Amino acid sequence: MAKCTICGNKIAELFLEKLKGTIIKKPGKSKQYPVCFECQKKFKNHEELMKEIK
Ligand SMILES: [Zn+2]
Repeated sequence: MAKCTICGNKIAELFLEKLKGTIIKKPGKSKQYPVCFECQKKFKNHEELMKEIK
């Protein structure tokens, strides 16, 4: 199960293999960073989320 990159919580999986949350991609990198719904709510925009991901 995927873990949130920011808080480390497990991300609940929904049916159809959709994650409850989002996947952040940094420009120019192929690595994907799963982010849970709670953290997605905490940081309103994509740029703030990316700042949290080291
Ligand atoms: Zn989180």
